Amino acid sequence: MNTAKLIDGKAAANRVLKQVKADVQRLKRKGIEPALAVILVGQDPASEVYVRNKILRAEESGIRSLEYRLVANSSQAELLALIATLNADASVNGILLQLPLPAHFEEARALQAIDPRKDVDGFHSENVGGLSQGRDVLTPCTPSGCMQLLEDACGDLSGKHAVVIGRSNIVGKPMAALLLQAHCSVTVVHSRSTDAKALCQLADIVVAAVGRPRMIDASWLKPGAVVIDVGINRIEENGRSRLVGDVDFDSALPQVSAITPVPGGVGPMTIAFLMKNTVTAAVQQAHAQRSQSEAVCLSTY
Ligand code: NAD
Repeated sequence: MNTAKLIDGKAAANRVLKQVKADVQRLKRKGIEPALAVILVGQDPASEVYVRNKILRAEESGIRSLEYRLVANSSQAELLALIATLNADASVNGILLQLPLPAHFEEARALQAIDPRKDVDGFHSENVGGLSQGRDVLTPCTPSGCMQLLEDACGDLSGKHAVVIGRSNIVGKPMAALLLQAHCSVTVVHSRSTDAKALCQLADIVVAAVGRPRMIDASWLKPGAVVIDVGINRIEENGRSRLVGDVDFDSALPQVSAITPVPGGVGPMTIAFLMKNTVTAAVQQAHAQRSQSEAVCLSTY
């Protein structure tokens, strides 16, 4: 295998986490201890693994982690009450609500209840709007991680044609907004696109976020394209279970100039950017608190 073409997400994530750890140590010396609250509703096995990994990574980074568990048949009101308590707790900087929620919850309403300043997943409409306006807001972790991988692989992205496959709120749409912010020409294709493959063949950068195993093979790709494979799909192959991406890695490799593997590509970057967002949130909240107390001091004169 031509490893020179591999975009190593684990190594990139370790670089981000090293910086996060150093930032946390610096903040602690100034009396700021970043804290992340993770809420898990129910006992979905995949969510249990994700939450465990997030808490582990937070602890390794020096971030204080708080785990809140609600039973699957909890009510929306109980979840909203917990979010309100965490919003009001000044010692909590980031709130992460692990998705998906059990079917009887209104996911969008719960996400919207999180204080946008603590919304380390970047899903609150205030942050979504801020991203599309190019404001400095908390942005979703997976697309932010993809951007870092692209910048590491390509340097300046300005003027490149990027095709994003998928238009979810979690990956596709924020990915497109971030690429646009980096001055790419951006095309988004989705399940109703009639010419997805033809558009993809024109792309310098392809970001696949579909959830269909090995949908994109070499015939979709321009020679020399850079491919970021967000997809995580579990398949049974040769009698064993394994994870594959949305891109047919073996077919694509000879055609591309760089590609992320699955696993070991985008996945580790998602958690690393969750930690980065928690630190950013802690810093922003400390600044806001300081200017508030300065304003109080000034107003007494
Ligand atoms: P989603 O189901 O919400 O969205 C999938 C998108 O793909 C939709 O917008 C749909 O229009 C589009 N699509 C479906 N079929 C298509 C087709 N034939 N052609 C073109 N577009 C098509 O999924 P999501 O949450 O965006 O996740 C996508 C994939 O990324 C999944 O495999 C998910 O597991 C993975 N994921 C990985 C990470 C990570 O950290 N690596 C994070 C989030 C999601």
